[in-house]
Amino acid sequence: MKLDAEKAAAIAASSAQEFTTKRPTVPALEEKMFTPIQCLDHGFVRLIDYMGDDSAIVQAARVSYGAGTKKMREDRGLIRYLLRHRHTTPFEMCEMKIHVKLPIFVARQWIRHRTANVNEISARYSVLDNEFYLPSPEHLAVQSTNNKQGRGEALTEAQSAMVLEMLKRDATQAYSTYSELLGEEVGLARELARMNLPVNWYTQWYWKVDLHNLLHFLALRMDAHAQYEIRVFADAIGSLVKEWVPHVWEAFQDYRMGGAFFSKQELEVIQAWIAGETPKFEDLTLSKREWRALCKRFGRSTGLESK
Ligand SMILES: Cc1cc2nc3c(=O)[nH]c(=O)nc-3n(C[C@H](O)[C@H](O)[C@H](O)COP(=O)(O)OP(=O)(O)OC[C@H]3O[C@@H](n4cnc5c(N)ncnc54)[C@H](O)[C@@H]3O)c2cc1C
Repeated sequence: MKLDAEKAAAIAASSAQEFTTKRPTVPALEEKMFTPIQCLDHGFVRLIDYMGDDSAIVQAARVSYGAGTKKMREDRGLIRYLLRHRHTTPFEMCEMKIHVKLPIFVARQWIRHRTANVNEISARYSVLDNEFYLPSPEHLAVQSTNNKQGRGEALTEAQSAMVLEMLKRDATQAYSTYSELLGEEVGLARELARMNLPVNWYTQWYWKVDLHNLLHFLALRMDAHAQYEIRVFADAIGSLVKEWVPHVWEAFQDYRMGGAFFSKQELEVIQAWIAGETPKFEDLTLSKREWRALCKRFGRSTGLESK
């Protein structure tokens, strides 16, 4: 990721600004403001603004006239209780605004999260930079045989080189056509010229979201089932959230990311295992997929033939 001199200067100028405020701020997060966190080859996440901190959640939960915080231990306990019991509204009192540069195919997944405010760069107004995403060779893999939405074995070195060459060839050709369409000979409108650019092209947006909806986004997009390319961005945002609201982050790791939710039928199986019984798949009403996932989680044999 390279920033031109003008953009780098704008970031430096923002970073040099100092304001006094009566609002709570988080020193560790202030340090990270405006600086791009690199994601993929040309993308980034950078923090533009935030509102609230751990204590804002406590303050709202207690509907306090003051800061709302008690002893650190009690505040931490309250945050953990709220998160564990899905008392979500206090978490909506905190907000984060970020600037993201991301490939269009990642943006299409991201935009499905409807509970944020978004403003995207206009390719009707601006000429897009010649920047497209090329995966690094270790992230090129064949179609998974057991997950229709996933990757399997990594490509060989020769295959990777061939795939990257093909991707680069198409992108270069597409940008050359885009430039030609915009050029003096045709002068096609930007809103039309862009239509031949592929979905690995980079776009940018400002994205503002409250902490409750951000945690929902992170739970889905940091998860191993999410596509690698969006996970990279989710992890970058996660690194900011960790600094911003450390008690929330800890509870989120414990109860959401590291925790598990079980159905009634799954709980019955777990209880049977604890009682030393060995329930058989045929006698249960779980689907094969549920059964396999449950057995895997507890390191048990499914008793089924592998697919
Ligand atoms: C691994 C993975 C695979 C996926 N595969 C596909 C796929 O193949 N095809 C596809 O189309 N999508 C797919 N998605 C997208 C997915 O179905 C959701 O659209 C996306 O994750 C956004 O989730 P959300 O609606 O909960 O989030 P948000 O839009 O952020 O909403 C957060 C919550 O707010 C509430 N909410 C928001 N808007 C409304 C509304 N209008 N009405 C009622 N409640 C609302 C809901 O409780 C919702 O959970 C996939 C997502 C993941 C993580």
